[in-house]
Amino acid sequence: MEVKGSSKWCFQGNEDLVEASSRSIRNTIVPLMENLNKEDKRPVIRLGHGDPTAFPCFRTTVEAEDAVVDAIRSANYNGYCVSLQGILPARRAVAEYLSRDLPYELSPDHVILTSGCSQAIEHIITVLARPNANILLPRPGFPDYDALALLYHLEFRLFDLLPEKGWEVDLEAVEALADHNTVAMVIINPGNPCGNVYTPQHLMKVAKTAKKLRIMVIADEVYAHLHFGENPFIPMGTFATVAPVITLGSISKRWLVPGWRLGWLVTNDPNGILAKSGVFESLRLCKILTSDSATILQGAIPHIIEKTKEEFFSKILNILRVTADTCYDKIKEIPCLICPYKPEGSMFMLVKLNLALLEGIHDDMDFCVKLIREESVVVLPGVAVGIRNWVRITFAAEPLALEEGLERIRVFCQRHSKK
Ligand SMILES: *Cc1c(COP(=O)(O)O)cnc(C)c1O
Repeated sequence: MEVKGSSKWCFQGNEDLVEASSRSIRNTIVPLMENLNKEDKRPVIRLGHGDPTAFPCFRTTVEAEDAVVDAIRSANYNGYCVSLQGILPARRAVAEYLSRDLPYELSPDHVILTSGCSQAIEHIITVLARPNANILLPRPGFPDYDALALLYHLEFRLFDLLPEKGWEVDLEAVEALADHNTVAMVIINPGNPCGNVYTPQHLMKVAKTAKKLRIMVIADEVYAHLHFGENPFIPMGTFATVAPVITLGSISKRWLVPGWRLGWLVTNDPNGILAKSGVFESLRLCKILTSDSATILQGAIPHIIEKTKEEFFSKILNILRVTADTCYDKIKEIPCLICPYKPEGSMFMLVKLNLALLEGIHDDMDFCVKLIREESVVVLPGVAVGIRNWVRITFAAEPLALEEGLERIRVFCQRHSKK
């Protein structure tokens, strides 16, 4: 063996991880928080997050808590999960739950349980990341997709969502971006960060475009049923006879338990295209190599779904309807902020900065840094979700805290507006 002449160690960190993680929302929020002014005695108002569980009004339902406690006490779920895709009763419960909104029945065989929707994203990216392949992602979007694609060396290309059209997909752009190495496109409905809820007509057009391009649709429906506007929630799987659909979801958002880490990846494949292509088998193999979602949660999920009362869901939707209204109405009154779309779902509103009316604010990041420093209010700079000089405001907040936060934003904008 050759003796090395250098005193340098042979190992080093992974540069790709640095680049990929710099895209995460957490990586934007944490340094932003360092700008907090400790002298300001007012409470910090956090409207930048995607996790509303810090607010008492967004506590999950007692039926879900009981289901987990019962699963623990039963001592039936202390072992490893015996089935590759998740235990059968859990997969059956998820398949039945999702089938309620579909024109056909999903089989438990089509369900893979994951550690939150995040792991479902990771699995599909892992499977699709073959040399030369590319995936089409929405802009603005959810940065985990871009970050994981980067990490797994799956080329990604961004198509725009159109604010003036309710953040619909620019399907012409999708067609222009695609080539014979394109394998999939991602839609997020209801949307993060846009608060959009797509019409069935638009979803049908998405499916037809995917069919024309011979690609699959990956439908991130982690905000499924969190909608309070005119458009109902229609799962993308409804159009799976047109083009194959992989649905990603979890209980994190609807049940307000992102810490419980139970999600799913479901193949909506009535024509057997995903099965024939080997994608489904690859997803199963992915599960051999990665950790399962906690068996305790798998044990609890049938009861979580079955026992949660409709009143819990409607109570949460009523709060979100009111806070979304408040957010939109208050922001509309501020001259330097433009909101082209009133959110109809999820927990977020995107607001455009009219920098021409602002004094001494260079861009969205600068806006957010100074807003924290001067008013102790946190909102997310648009760059974190791929859209410069916009900000994302979370309206899933205690109503009084939200009003106070919006008032501080108004005062801030007034102070910085061009005289
Ligand atoms: C929160 C979120 C996820 C991740 O969900 P988990 O179940 O907490 O892993 C995935 N996609 C979008 C669009 C999200 O907002």
